[in-house]
Amino acid sequence: MSYDITIIGAGITGAGVAQAAAAAGYKVAVFEASEVGGATSSNSSKLIHGGLRYLESFQFSLVRESLLEREILLSIAPELVKLAPLHIPIYKNSQRSPLTIHTGLSLYRLLSGWDATTKFSRLDKAQWPDLDGIRTEQLKAVYRYQEAQTDDRALTRAVMASACELGAELMHPARFNGATIANKHVEVTYQHGGRDQSLSTRVLVNCAGPWASELNKRITPTPELPPVELVQGSHLLLPPVLHHHYYLESPSDGRAVFALPWQGKLLLGTTETPHFDAPETAQCHPHETHYLLTILKHYFPHLHVLPSSAETLAGLRVLPKTQGTAFGRSRDVMMLADQRNNPRVLTVMGGKLTTYRATAWEVMQKLYPSLPPARRGIDTRQIHLHPVD
Ligand SMILES: Cc1cc2nc3c(=O)[nH]c(=O)nc-3n(C[C@H](O)[C@H](O)[C@H](O)COP(=O)(O)OP(=O)(O)OC[C@H]3O[C@@H](n4cnc5c(N)ncnc54)[C@H](O)[C@@H]3O)c2cc1C
Repeated sequence: MSYDITIIGAGITGAGVAQAAAAAGYKVAVFEASEVGGATSSNSSKLIHGGLRYLESFQFSLVRESLLEREILLSIAPELVKLAPLHIPIYKNSQRSPLTIHTGLSLYRLLSGWDATTKFSRLDKAQWPDLDGIRTEQLKAVYRYQEAQTDDRALTRAVMASACELGAELMHPARFNGATIANKHVEVTYQHGGRDQSLSTRVLVNCAGPWASELNKRITPTPELPPVELVQGSHLLLPPVLHHHYYLESPSDGRAVFALPWQGKLLLGTTETPHFDAPETAQCHPHETHYLLTILKHYFPHLHVLPSSAETLAGLRVLPKTQGTAFGRSRDVMMLADQRNNPRVLTVMGGKLTTYRATAWEVMQKLYPSLPPARRGIDTRQIHLHPVD
């Protein structure tokens, strides 16, 4: 069997690349060892967002791209991506002042090209009592702006279904075992249907998220990858104790924490805990549950939520290994090829659910020199996405 493009992993990154490659008319194979969208791509904060907080680290191009992609997804996937008003309460001792938030939201609006969805307002004091009993002692201001929410697993499955409609072949469950890079192609071995199999491909795209670094070691000769770190982010799924969406600042360390009504529950997250073991062992630790419930209690003192009422989710961020807290580090996607021109193996790690389509577009630009001319030019900005049963 021979393919133009073979992809390891059907998370949002692999699904997005499969869709873009199939839309360009290439012969595409995708291996998914477990469940489509079952790993990081179903353990996110489920926001399709511009990333307001990335303004603080001057990641303007990421924010601009995210806002643009949010607009596209709102139009091509209205059943899966919906706007929701988020509230940012600011207290006397908050790290960010009302002026900082106002400036950030204005910049957000500017970067969106004054898109109507980025309009924001400062709530009247008379509206504060409507906010789920939020603590008003030392409260200085509450801002309201809009982000979009999704079902991350369902979105990933919809993108993968679209890729398959365009002709991509999903092998599932199929586990990538290893690969050997030859002059103009790559020999790949994998396990599917209970037996070892092999195929030949012009290019191999490693979209295995937190597993990508380990799988890279099974490629001969092994392409160089920069060191990365896995940082766990946990969420709690709680009974629906809040009616509105909040963007909170953790009083202990200033990190942003979301409290978001989602599918009849309250999604509360996230944390950042270094993860040193195998990716499949990720799970929410009791200290993370305690951290998140303490923040909820701080802002909504009347709530009595027991840890036992929480379902937990844990996902792993793949971040470049550098100094500093995970919170402040770049969330730009990392793309690394075995060679600059005519890549035969490309590894894609990190990034955001929100920008999967733009990432896939960029991946294709890197791969074109290694491929025959595209056989068609369907624009993924025009392909509607629907929930898959
Ligand atoms: C806590 C947290 C919150 C986040 N919140 C947001 C958010 O609100 N908005 C946003 O835009 N982004 C968010 N992100 C980022 C986003 O979720 C990720 O960037 C994205 O899901 C990564 O997808 P992926 O496809 O690269 O990896 P994954 O979804 O992990 O997919 C990798 C796939 O590879 C498969 N695989 C592994 N080994 C093999 C093998 N040997 N053979 C075949 N398949 C294999 C796995 O089974 C898996 O399905 C968040 C991330 C985290 C961790």
